[in-house]
Amino acid sequence: MFIVLKRNIRETEKANILSILEHAGIEFHMDSQQNSSIIKIMPGFQDFPLEKIKILAGVDQVIDLDHSYRLVSRDSKKENTKIYIGDLVIGGNKPVVIAGPCAVENEKQIIETAKLLKSKGIKLLRGGAYKPRTSPYSFTGLEEKGLHLLQTVKEVTGLSIVTEILDTHDVDLVSEYSDILQVGSRNMQNYKLLRAVGRIQKPVLLKRGMSAKLNEFLLSAEYIMSEGNDQIILCERGIRTFVEYSRNTLDLNIVPVIKNISHLPIIVDPSHGTGRREIVEPMSLAALAAGADGIMIEVHPHPEKSWSDPQQALSLEQFSILMDKVNHFIEWRERYANFTSAS
Ligand code: PEP
Ligand code: MN
Repeated sequence: MFIVLKRNIRETEKANILSILEHAGIEFHMDSQQNSSIIKIMPGFQDFPLEKIKILAGVDQVIDLDHSYRLVSRDSKKENTKIYIGDLVIGGNKPVVIAGPCAVENEKQIIETAKLLKSKGIKLLRGGAYKPRTSPYSFTGLEEKGLHLLQTVKEVTGLSIVTEILDTHDVDLVSEYSDILQVGSRNMQNYKLLRAVGRIQKPVLLKRGMSAKLNEFLLSAEYIMSEGNDQIILCERGIRTFVEYSRNTLDLNIVPVIKNISHLPIIVDPSHGTGRREIVEPMSLAALAAGADGIMIEVHPHPEKSWSDPQQALSLEQFSILMDKVNHFIEWRERYANFTSAS
């Protein structure tokens, strides 16, 4: 934490600030140079009277570095971060669609899905080989075998792969088989994992924790970026609220807010955000209308037989219909953007 003093601070004001800190027992350090304007507060003081200090005469601002993100903020980079996967750009003008099953189950399921997705113009296939499940008795993924099936998909169709990483020990293995590493909601605050994926040079799709505040979400991205990896895609996937009619509440408010304060791309996952296949389509369009850089949709050849998340997966046919609407909507969004930038 730093207290930044006003340039034209009076000596009496400075003395007052220092005496308040001393009386509160706060350890601090100030450069002995005469015109120094920064007071560094030493760590370890629990109840720093932030609000009181902020309004003292002569104080310009108090910067709480422990609670603020810097690298992911627009203040540190004005232009949007673009992530290139082959000839696809995430964070450019055109939103992207990532689609595929919740989990890789077998060769037939994943290849059939991948071929349909490809025919619909999809370039990024999602599918978990390592699945974080609420119950230990649920299907937790094919693990390495699932990665091999994803490799087959890539060889057969040329699609790029998004798959989840659960454990720091698997970073090298999972990155070998994927183009984007997904850090799921349950791991959004697994700081060791965030640091580990921050140390590799592979795009990371960071999903918002199910009860994470905006600040916490961005600080998790900051963890990754502070290790050197700046290829981060944020993903809103719904938060826990009191509603009982949907699995989660898709917080689309966060999309324009993040576009404003961060340079990172943000996509939306209406499958987990709703948990109900019949509302995936309207919420996909709503996400695009809100300005999302893309959407991620769960698709399964036989949704009702899906080994995980059967209620939210779209059938291949439903996905085709969705894509026709999404493509029209994307055209509309481009016209709207041109219209608003011209007016
Ligand atoms: C997923 O995308 O398969 C997943 C488990 O999502 P989340 O982490 O958002 O629950
Ligand atoms: Mn799922």
